[in-house]
Amino acid sequence: MRKTIVAGNWKMNGTSESIKTLLESLTSGVPAVEGLVTLVCPPAVYLSQVKQALSDAPIALGAQNVSSQPSGAFTGEWSLAMLQDLGCEYVILGHSERRSLFAESDEDVAEKVAATLSAGLIPILCVGETLTQRESGETLSLVAAQIDAVLQRVGIEGFASVVIAYEPVWAIGTGLTATPEQAQEVHAAIRAQLAECDADIADQLSILYGGSMNAGNAAELLAQRDIDGGLIGGASLKADEFLTICAAATESRK
Ligand code: PEP
Repeated sequence: MRKTIVAGNWKMNGTSESIKTLLESLTSGVPAVEGLVTLVCPPAVYLSQVKQALSDAPIALGAQNVSSQPSGAFTGEWSLAMLQDLGCEYVILGHSERRSLFAESDEDVAEKVAATLSAGLIPILCVGETLTQRESGETLSLVAAQIDAVLQRVGIEGFASVVIAYEPVWAIGTGLTATPEQAQEVHAAIRAQLAECDADIADQLSILYGGSMNAGNAAELLAQRDIDGGLIGGASLKADEFLTICAAATESRK
């Protein structure tokens, strides 16, 4: 059975104090469930603080981005070795905010995925269409192209250690959510695309949904056959919302 993954993307939010409070609730509330992976991805400057506070709670640590370069004159960046040093296991890559606000191309994202795999960390590869692309019927081809860029770089074997997050851009931070059917259609297409290369790897791959997932809509989305968890932005900053999503993810495994 595939892993179910619930990942909180805190984006550029929080203070030492608010993070302490949030983690007090999460460390006591996140359930240890076989096959369920829960992780939080704080801003990089708080990774150490979060790692310490997580202690032995069943919550892993992820970063929101990383450089593909090993070290050197890259002001404002951080490396995979640094993330490893801080106890990070996951890295979100290709988030739509990185693609649109920081001009990351499919090729940049593929390079970062390759570097992350080489370092032994797990990339959470984000893909998804804008509203204009959806309305012009380009959703499936656009998502396939985003995945293909990574496939060309790391091969299908690389996908044995990749997590994919389908995040329709129009649903991120907007309160609009893809319907379970819309999301399932794209998730199934992603799995079918990879199954053409290797059916076992495609079958084992966790594909998360992201885009205004919250306590109210998580159960319906997670009940879909090809939805194996969620990448949660806004709702991951509220302990009760995040814990309800974790409970729905636990339920979806039964
Ligand atoms: C995200 O940032 O990956 C995300 C899905 O955000 P939100 O849940 O706020 O839409």
